[in-house]
Formats: sequence, C-alpha cells, structure tokens
Amino acid sequence: MTDRASPRITVDRILHPASVAVFGASDDRSKWAGRIMYYLALHGYAGEVIPINPRRQIVQGKTCYARIADAPHVDVAIIAIPAPLVPATLRECADAGVGCCLIISSGFAEVGPEGAALQREISELSRRTGMRLVGPNCLGLINVLNGMALTSARVLEVERLHRGRIGFVTQSGAIMLSIFNRAHDVGIGFSHLVSVGNQADLDLADFFEHMIDDPATAVICLHVEGLRDGRRFLDLIRRARRAGKPVIALKTGRSELGEHAARSHTASLAGAYPVFEAACRDAGVVLVDDPDVMVLVANMLARFGAPTEGGIALLSPSGGINGIVADRLADANVPLAVLRPETRQSLCEVMLPTHLDNPVDLGARRQELGETNAVAARAVELVAADPGVNAIVIALTTSPNYEATSKALGAAAVASGKPCFTIITPGSVADGVRAVLREIGCPYGDRIDDGVRMLAAYTRYVPTSRVARAPDAKPGRASLLDLRTGYLTEPDAKALLARYGIPVTRERVVRARDEAVAAAEAIGFPVALKAVTDKVVHKSDAGLVELALADPDALGRAWDKIRRRLAILDPPADTLLVQEMVSGGLELILGAKRDPGFGPVVMIGSGGILVELLRDVQLALAPIDPAEAEALLRGVKAWPLLEGYRGRGRLDIPAVASALSRLSRLAVDLGSRLGEIDVNPLIVRTDGHGVVAADARAVIAPETQDQDL
Ligand code: ADP
Ligand code: MG
Repeated sequence: MTDRASPRITVDRILHPASVAVFGASDDRSKWAGRIMYYLALHGYAGEVIPINPRRQIVQGKTCYARIADAPHVDVAIIAIPAPLVPATLRECADAGVGCCLIISSGFAEVGPEGAALQREISELSRRTGMRLVGPNCLGLINVLNGMALTSARVLEVERLHRGRIGFVTQSGAIMLSIFNRAHDVGIGFSHLVSVGNQADLDLADFFEHMIDDPATAVICLHVEGLRDGRRFLDLIRRARRAGKPVIALKTGRSELGEHAARSHTASLAGAYPVFEAACRDAGVVLVDDPDVMVLVANMLARFGAPTEGGIALLSPSGGINGIVADRLADANVPLAVLRPETRQSLCEVMLPTHLDNPVDLGARRQELGETNAVAARAVELVAADPGVNAIVIALTTSPNYEATSKALGAAAVASGKPCFTIITPGSVADGVRAVLREIGCPYGDRIDDGVRMLAAYTRYVPTSRVARAPDAKPGRASLLDLRTGYLTEPDAKALLARYGIPVTRERVVRARDEAVAAAEAIGFPVALKAVTDKVVHKSDAGLVELALADPDALGRAWDKIRRRLAILDPPADTLLVQEMVSGGLELILGAKRDPGFGPVVMIGSGGILVELLRDVQLALAPIDPAEAEALLRGVKAWPLLEGYRGRGRLDIPAVASALSRLSRLAVDLGSRLGEIDVNPLIVRTDGHGVVAADARAVIAPETQDQDL
C-alpha cells in the first residue's frame, strides 16, 4: 500500500466534478452514452460535459474530442466499453490527468480468474497513478443535488429528481436503480446514490465516510454484500453515530452455510453475519432485510428525526384494516400507545363514547357532527396531542373515494409535528390518493407489510444507545506471555479462565487409578471423570465423560470404561480429570472468538450439549462491562429461567454477567492470540449462589505482528 500515488481527486469532487467526459458519446438516446449526455442536460448538471468519440465533431451540441488526450481537463470520465479494452483506455485517461474513471463495464472479478486478472491490472494502475476508479461492474452514481446523474438507466427519464437528505451506497447497480425508482414514485428524495460495483479502487466505505462528513446528507443507507475491512466499517459506524447520523444497513449473506467444521461451538455460532449484526447493534445501526423498507425508514428518520418513547396511534376509517395492522404490529413487537384518560375525554368531542380506544376506528364518529372528514381530522389532532403517542399511523384500504379523506387525515397528522405514516393497500384505483399524500407530504407505503416492517425498524432506532467502545486498555499481555499456542484442553483452558476470576470446578489431572480415587476423596464424592485429550472436541459424544460417580467402585468402573475408549485413539491418551460434580443448575454457554473483521467478540446463550441445535445465543463486541453483559443476557431465550420462571427462585444473574464481562476482558487481552474459547457449560447454581465453569476449551493462535484487533 505504500506505493500508492496520492489521489488526484477527493470523493467530494467525484460527486461534484467541474467536468465530466463521456466515452463513446452519441446523439442517439438509444445508446447508453447518448442517454448519459441527455440526462446530464435534462437534470441541469452545470459543469462541463465533454464528449469523447473519434467519429464525431459535435455531440448533443457540445464539442466532441477524438481522444481524451485532446480534451480539456476532466474530473470524472465515464466508460462502458468491453472489459478487455478498459485497461488501455484507463491508461490514456491516467496520462491525460483524469481525476477519476467510473467504469460501467462488466466482465471483471465477477466472471472468474481472467476477469479478476483484468481487475487487478486496473487496481494497480489506479494505485500507481493516483487516478481514482469507481466500479467496474457498477451502474454509476447520481448526485441529486447538482443534477449529475452518471448512469444511463432509464429510471432517470423523469421530469425532476427529488432532492432529499438520504445518502445511499450499494455494491449493486441494479439495487441502486430500483431503489431510486421506487423512492421517486412515493416522493422520497436523496442527496446521493452510489453503486460501487466490484470496488477495484474506491469502495463502499469511501462513500460512506464521505456521507458522514457531508452536510447535505442526514441519513445513510448501506447495502452491503461483502465487507472488505470490518475494522474500518466499525470505525465508520461509530463515527456516524457520534455525528448523529442514523445508518440503516442491509447486509446479505445471512443464509450462507456455516463456516468450515469448527473446533468450538463459538466458531460455528458466531459466524460472519451474527458478528456484523452485533457490531451494528452496538453502534445503533438500524438493520433491515428489504431495500424498500430501508428507504422508508430512512425517510422517516430524515423527516422526523429519531422516535421518542411511547407507542403508535393507529387510525382508520376501516375497522377491518385497523385490526389487521394492529395484529401485525403486535407480531412485530411494535407497541400501540395506551391513550391517556385526558385524551379519551377529549375524543368524546368527536367519537362515540364506546369507541375511544387505540386503534381508533374513525367509522365510529359522532354522525350528528356533519362534515365527516373534518371530524375525523379532529380525532387525529386529539390523538396526536397525547404525549404517549410517538407516531401517527393512518391505514387506508384501496379506494378512489379516500382522496378527500386522506387529505384531511394526512394534513392533520403532518400538522401535528409527530412522525406520521399512511399505510395504503395496493391497487391502481387509489393512485389519486397516493398523489394527494405526496402533495401534502405525508409519507406512505403501498403495502401493509412495508408499513409494519418500517415501523418496527423506525421505532427501534434509539438515538442514545451505547456506542460500542474500543478496548480501553492495552492488552494485559504480560500475564499471558506463558500461554501455550494451540488447542487448550479442559484443565488448561479452565486455568486460563481462573486467572480472570471466572469460577471453575475443583478438579485434578490424574494418570493412575489410585491417584484418581485419592483425588476424588480430596474433592469429595460424587465426582465426574473425564478424558483430557486434544483429539476429541466433544468428549461426551465419544463416551469420555462419566458423571455422578458416587464412590470408589463407581469411579473405578468409569476409569476402565474411559481408558478402553482412550486406547483406540492414535496416539492413545492417558490423562484423565477428576472433577467435582455440580448438581442441578442451568447450563449456559459462554464463548469468545476473534472475528477477522471486527476483532474480539463474546457470546452467551443456552448451553449444554444441544447448543448448536438451539442456536439461542447473543453476541457482542468485546469488551463489555457487567451491565452490558446483563443486557445481552436478557436477549437469550433462557432469560426467564434465570429470573425465576414459574415461582422458581431467581438465579445469580450478576455472577453470570460478571463471568461474561471477565471473559470479554480476557478476549481483548489475548489480542491476536485469541482463536476461540468455549465455556460450555457454565453452570448457574439453582440455589441462587454463583456460577461455575464445568467445561472449557480454547484455541490460542501463534503470536503475530498484527495486534490491531
Ligand atoms: P463435552 O462438552 O466435551 O462433551 P462436558 O465436560 O461439557 O463435555 O460434559 C458434557 C455434559 O456433562 C455437560 O454439558 C454437563 O451437562 C455435564 N457435566 C460435565 N461436567 C460436569 C460437572 N462437573 N458437574 C455437573 N455436570 C457436568
Ligand atoms: Mg462441554
């Protein structure tokens, strides 16, 4: 990376270029370059447009140049020629001093080794010359604010671009265009939209970073396929948080098959997506799984800011749709507001006294009041004034008759100053209603599902949630210097845990039968007897764990059994572990691993031998303090058991939180030496006093120079 020439142009300048060159320029709008020139003119790009085409003198009224070398200075050149011709053209651009080339052409890393070689070639050229690249295999970018659409897509065939404060970055050109179109239709505007394609040079994070600093962008939407540099991404989401800019992310890859056969539960449960999710949650990023919903949420945040505490007020002229939306909101854990007595009292002015509940059925208005839309609008106004209402949601079925209604209701909702949204069911007969909503500036969605998902994501955005902290101390490496590299068997792993104050079972490593009996007598019967071996990851699966051995006889029989099983290992193992038996108790799993992108991560969940079946775990970036550990623990499905389910006693939750927090500290201190640590089970004693690690294993990586994460 040290051989990188200094960049010729900033990302800001790429979005605000003084001049743009279009390769293959044409008067013909059926050609991509013809359309680009046309759209630049149509949307009022005020910079210089420089056509490049050896067969033309004038294109769309502008002087055309045969070669880039002949043209005046170019900030950004846009190129869509066949992939094999791209490197030569880029060289010409670099020689001519072009600031940045935006490469639409596909046929690079996405198509296999040959394409990948071409891509390496152009990346290298960029690094050497400092000429920046966007793409290849992208569909360009759109700066709505200066009317500069560097894309040939026909979605730009619109009278005007809606300006907004939402910035959008995606790796997929197709998603950028469909989002642009869909948002345009519902009247949502952007500051910039960028598709970065294969990211041969500039990547998603570069544009993300720009948007954090860009005063024109208030909310940032990211569609992420693969992350190049998790650490940088983490820094950026935290920075966006500090800048008060909400980030909404959609990450694909959740369904990818688990990682290769893992040596621990933690490795198999803390895959790339869950770690991404934990990092995002810590930094207050809103995660969504649908691009349309992403833009609807972004629009709410840009329009109304973060939601306050409280619940939603749902109003509709149709009791039918009210019921459906209310159920869907309940399924999505989005609370409806409980109206205050004062609000109910004032609602009597316009509603039947039997119908003062939220959701509000506007069909039950007092008919004697006459002009019904004004009466319904008054109901909206009264409900919006309730301090427990944090958003007004109006639900409409598809009907052309609702134009006046939606105007009255929507206007009252907008005038209230509270976040508002109309859910309207699909169907073209209500296009007039949609036009009305756009006109009065009431955000809306075309499907119940979009509305419900949007509300779930929006109401969960917490402006002040904690920002994940970077490790606040240098790794305490001194105390770990003696640690052996490789797989740590149960007694070694537990000794490591004990150094960090995590309680472990009393136990003793033994090599002979009478030694085992003496150990058991010292520890106290009943005991557990286990094999100590790095050949078998899950000991009980291989019959290497014998529990509740009540006396020397039982211990002796267990000894013989385990020794027989160990004899077939290659090489045979001869070390066993005599251990105190922990009776009863709830089994949890605690884990830690080093994620290649995000650094040390800890995990907690339902433990025992079924962990991978239950997959009931929560992740967080390390370190975490005990309070944060307890908050994480609340997300585990077994939480009610800890709290004392059905009259059983409350278990020692602070002890669990302390153990997890200590493990997170150990994870940080291990630095790059952290591979994986599993504590499974951590037994939470049913008598309400303390926890104890009954099994553990760890993988310690060799020392490396890279101690960044
Ligand atoms: P592995 O996970 O390698 O199969 P463990 O040592 O975790 O082996 O033992 C398997 C199961 O046996 C544990 O999940 C736990 O339910 C039980 N167990 C193990 N050690 C003890 C102990 N000391 N006291 C009580 N139960 C134990
Ligand atoms: Mg175990």
